[in-house]
Amino acid sequence: MRAAVFHHSYEPLTIENVATPVVGPHDVKIAIQTCSISHTDMQFIDQGLAPNMNPPIILGHELAGIIEEVGKDVKKFKSGERVIVPAIITCNQCLACKSWNETHCEDMKHIGIDCNGGFAEYIVVPAFHPYRLPYEYSFEEGSLIANLLVGAYHVVFDRINIRAGEKVVIFGCGGFGLSILQMAKLRGALVYMVDIFDWKLEQAKRFGADGILNSNKADICEEAVLETLGEKADIVIETIGAPRTLLQSMNSLKKGGRLVLCGYTDNALPFLIGRIIKNEISLIGAAGAPRRKIPEIIQLLEDDKISLDNMVTKRFDLDHINDGINTLRMGQTIRTIIYPFGLEHK
Ligand SMILES: [Zn+2]
Repeated sequence: MRAAVFHHSYEPLTIENVATPVVGPHDVKIAIQTCSISHTDMQFIDQGLAPNMNPPIILGHELAGIIEEVGKDVKKFKSGERVIVPAIITCNQCLACKSWNETHCEDMKHIGIDCNGGFAEYIVVPAFHPYRLPYEYSFEEGSLIANLLVGAYHVVFDRINIRAGEKVVIFGCGGFGLSILQMAKLRGALVYMVDIFDWKLEQAKRFGADGILNSNKADICEEAVLETLGEKADIVIETIGAPRTLLQSMNSLKKGGRLVLCGYTDNALPFLIGRIIKNEISLIGAAGAPRRKIPEIIQLLEDDKISLDNMVTKRFDLDHINDGINTLRMGQTIRTIIYPFGLEHK
């Protein structure tokens, strides 16, 4: 099969012919129709490896496709069914998995990080893992439901418990930031978005932001936040994972505030320890996207409570994946989608 292979950080992906994965008795083989590029993918290329990565590897973890082959013991799916493939394969057996706390699974595998991912024509996963994608949703929407929307739901509903009327500042108007914005609005929060691109901030307004701030245009970001909100924030959600935005996030929080970190990075970041202690700031990490929430997300979409409109802004075939990654790097996109079988399959 054809795949975009990651060999080393600081180098582009290479398009290669690699062995098509083989289906075991309990597995399904999926022809990948869409895989979106996330900042996590870009970070491995631009900043270095996650500790458990062992290249060469195929990146990409936001995928949807069509079941092409099922293992001999699989009853759940038949070939031809449309599916969402969640990013994290949990063990389905440990106490965390059995108690519906799957993001705490002790034996999880991250697609596109510790096993091959979606920037390829095919993937093989255990049959318990994929979810059916209803026909009214496109593969692009399927790609975004599994990780972006479910991940945002997990941040807002499982990890923070945002209360109505609380003032929330979100750093980063990428697909994840805009998804968290929509979920926070469902909780009745007042949500303010910070980014360095006006066109993304305009998008945030369309998704219901109560206020926007271009931190590149402010002399001191924290003072501009204060001015925009009229006070410091109850909750700041950092979706970027950069030293500068982390400091700005800490400085924008009121006493007793909650700082939520969900912009993945393996780098050491500066923390003002004294500030955390003195101001009794709670640090909350959030990662992953519980598979079992997918039906709830589909229901929210069906009820028009949330939207994926205008979330996909660029599309590329596999041969041009490095151009696609560049659109993220340059801040030219909300979400860029890769079509492994070509754009004519759109
Ligand atoms: Zn488990």
